[in-house]
Amino acid sequence: MTDRVTGEDELVAGLERLGLGAESIVFLHASLRSFGRVDGGAQTVITAVRQVCGTVLMFGAVGERTGVPAPPGLVRPNNSFYQADSWAAFDAAVAAATPAGPGLPTDGWLGAVAAAFADQPDVISGDHPLYPFRAAGDHAEELIKGQRPDRMLGPVEVLDRLDGDVLLLGVGHHANTTIHLAEQRLGRSLFYRYAVVAPGVWAEVPNVSGESHNFDDLEPRLAPVTAETMIGNCRARRIPARAVLASATSVIMNDPAALLCPDPDCRCGGALRQRLAVLAGE
Ligand SMILES: [Zn+2]
Repeated sequence: MTDRVTGEDELVAGLERLGLGAESIVFLHASLRSFGRVDGGAQTVITAVRQVCGTVLMFGAVGERTGVPAPPGLVRPNNSFYQADSWAAFDAAVAAATPAGPGLPTDGWLGAVAAAFADQPDVISGDHPLYPFRAAGDHAEELIKGQRPDRMLGPVEVLDRLDGDVLLLGVGHHANTTIHLAEQRLGRSLFYRYAVVAPGVWAEVPNVSGESHNFDDLEPRLAPVTAETMIGNCRARRIPARAVLASATSVIMNDPAALLCPDPDCRCGGALRQRLAVLAGE
């Protein structure tokens, strides 16, 4: 497996087998490691996706630098978040954070492909202090304009409107951010988080999405609308964003706990209680 080297031409050919082309608007989620080895690394993955697809959208994250705990005493219902023990601890966290703004490096947990994409000179970033989406290509501005500090998933709304695709390169639906939009439209996974937005200034950021570790439960339902191929060792899949949203909406309508885990200590519990509150008309 480690001897297998995937090159740019093979990547391009694989993406074309998925039916992608110049008109395609893709929300990309990718694992570099999934390919085995790629000649040129993450940069080659980005180059190939951009060569084939007219518009590319990716999730971004800078919260490792900008994020802070909830301040003492500020407890939102069903918010599943940690809190500073004292104002002194909170003030210290604010002082230690980096204020949100353009040019912050992408959080390491998001992987090499997301970092390489964010570093492309023509990529534009959303205005969100924790999760700025990134986009390049024909519809980039339209997508990115959809994001505001209070609408983290705004670009996914635009992706839906433009009838774009979700492109999973070696990752499962746990990485499929589009599912969170279906949750939020049903009143679930709407968390408040906290970020430093200027030196010494913190803000409460609403509508942040929650856990996704059970999202692969959706896979069998999406199989009929999924185009799939292997690129090197990478399982590459393309699913219409509207199909993802419709499928996720349907399972959550049937079961408020769908795609969530039963662990009481997990954020999944907060998301479920939010949905139950909506159903109870609270
Ligand atoms: Zn969970």
